[in-house]
Amino acid sequence: MKNFRKVLLIISVLFTSSLVAKVNTVVSIVPQKLIVESIGGELVNVSVMVLPGNSPHSYEPKASQMKDLNDAKIYFAIGVEFENAWLKRFQNQNKSLKIVDTAKGIEKISMVEHHHEEDEHEDHGHQHHDHDDESKDPHVWTSTQNIKVIAKNIYNELISIDSQNSETYEANYKLLINKIDSVQSQIKEILKDTPKDSKFMVFHPAWGYFAHEYGLIQIAVEVEGKEPKPAVLVELIKEAREENIKAIFTQPEFSDKSAKVIADELGIKVIKASPLNPNWDENLINLAKAISN
Ligand code: ZN
Repeated sequence: MKNFRKVLLIISVLFTSSLVAKVNTVVSIVPQKLIVESIGGELVNVSVMVLPGNSPHSYEPKASQMKDLNDAKIYFAIGVEFENAWLKRFQNQNKSLKIVDTAKGIEKISMVEHHHEEDEHEDHGHQHHDHDDESKDPHVWTSTQNIKVIAKNIYNELISIDSQNSETYEANYKLLINKIDSVQSQIKEILKDTPKDSKFMVFHPAWGYFAHEYGLIQIAVEVEGKEPKPAVLVELIKEAREENIKAIFTQPEFSDKSAKVIADELGIKVIKASPLNPNWDENLINLAKAISN
């Protein structure tokens, strides 16, 4: 009797799980997770490749993450640097994995590097992180306009791979687009008294698309991914003073040593704001609020 019940239980578990077989997806960075979940809801599983606290420019997947890829159906790429080295290996590991570029259709802007130095840099122990002069800005997800494109790419893929649930995906997708529109108008409202071309200072220039969309200018403190040398720091302090910069944004993935020096010198605030925050909506709204103050 006991065994019979056990068998029944196993059968029912198998039966239900086959009815609600989810689409296993992998995304590169944390902010993509909410976007995929907003569209996929209960129909998808989302695992994130670049674990929190790590840089998507230089990430090295863990062995366990490589194993998890075997169960994945779709890999939602977004164009961050570690993908250049790893997407091929992911494909080799799982031949049936569909790799989708969710940044497809986004017009990439140039990476802002304000201060250039040709000489050697000392390494200050933070993650090595070069953006060469020619490179395009990979931080596409920091703009509401771009998030719409990313959402569309994800939606198109989900309805094609799981067409029997396309109505659910479509309903969710429409809700998400409404949400993005609403966040966009909230940000415009928050920034309505902030003059066009206002400058904000950041350690790592991850907010270029946000700046581009809302008519702002970001000034980077880092030089080619590294802390600026003292002479450049002096120049930055001068610039921050002239531009009446009111806050400097840093992110937990990078050192904020030089940002603190500038902030102390000018008596302004250092604000932590990570482009890798899981909630793109509150993150962009909070950034707009901090800039408008
Ligand atoms: Zn970055």
